Amino acid sequence: MAMEVFTVNTERTGAIDVTGKVRECVRNLAKGRSGVAFVFTFHTTTAITVNEAESGLMDDMIRAGISLVPKMDYRHNRIDNNAEAHIISSLIGNSVALPVEDGELKLGTWQSVLLLEFDGPRTRKVGVKFLAEAD
Ligand code: ZN
Repeated sequence: MAMEVFTVNTERTGAIDVTGKVRECVRNLAKGRSGVAFVFTFHTTTAITVNEAESGLMDDMIRAGISLVPKMDYRHNRIDNNAEAHIISSLIGNSVALPVEDGELKLGTWQSVLLLEFDGPRTRKVGVKFLAEAD
């Protein structure tokens, strides 16, 4: 089964609207079929979610996400000082499954696919798999 991968250049932290790139991958993979698109990030300090791509809200999600993780003496910080970013990413999740109808991503009016960066700047990879409905 095919998979499409795209890259995103991120800043230190931030939410990036990747809906257009996901739609393009879904069109290429689904070829008019219906099913489920599985969107995931290959990284341990990013997350994927579906929400409104309003700039204030996107900043709020990053700031609120960071505030969810308690300030502690994290053991992982002895290695690369980014334990908080790993924990936030796991709390939010590294994938979403989305409906596809007749080859098109089916999202609500205000829904977008957001990649959340907690330990950039880096070049991040996002994968899209498509699972078609049985005939
Ligand atoms: Zn780390």
